Amino acid sequence: MDLDAVIRRVPDFPKPGIMFYDVTSIFTNPAALAYVVDEMAELYPAKAIDGVIAIESRGFILGAPYAIRAGVPLVLARKKGKLPGRTVEESYELEYGRATLEIHVADLTPGKRWLIVDDLIATGGTIEAVGKMVKRREGEVAGVFAIVGLPFLNYAAKIGEYAPKTLIDFEGE
Ligand code: AMP
Repeated sequence: MDLDAVIRRVPDFPKPGIMFYDVTSIFTNPAALAYVVDEMAELYPAKAIDGVIAIESRGFILGAPYAIRAGVPLVLARKKGKLPGRTVEESYELEYGRATLEIHVADLTPGKRWLIVDDLIATGGTIEAVGKMVKRREGEVAGVFAIVGLPFLNYAAKIGEYAPKTLIDFEGE
């Protein structure tokens, strides 16, 4: 599967100088989406993972079919204020300002091995925040998966310990 050809690039979005890698062009391509989910299932076999944590919102699209395939619980990491139950939360730096993600405490059963999923890893700040919540709940980050990696933004410095896996990497354009 030639993901390079499938992923839409949108220059200067959401602001000048940013090249946005738009994975919705994978979601509209059934063969490409099936390929991504197949790769996830192969990289993270069910026996190595107790649950998947999917990051709002494009991570949800990948987390759900993986959870069904692996037969593991799907847990959502949502933007602050969306989850109704008691939550654990973590704030992190964005290019401008801060953001906060929350996870239902009841879903983060201590002692479990979690796969964290998002569409793309840039600075690694988002994944790092979810990793902190997992650790606070005495869980283990057993894997990190994203379709796209931007290693030139040095996410390895933040989340290298989790050995993140991506299907395609881009350098600065
Ligand atoms: P970061 O926390 O810096 O690793 O940013 C990752 C999050 O921001 C992911 O949820 C991505 O969807 C989004 N993101 C950051 N940079 C880009 C980009 N160049 N293209 C598409 N999405 C991006």
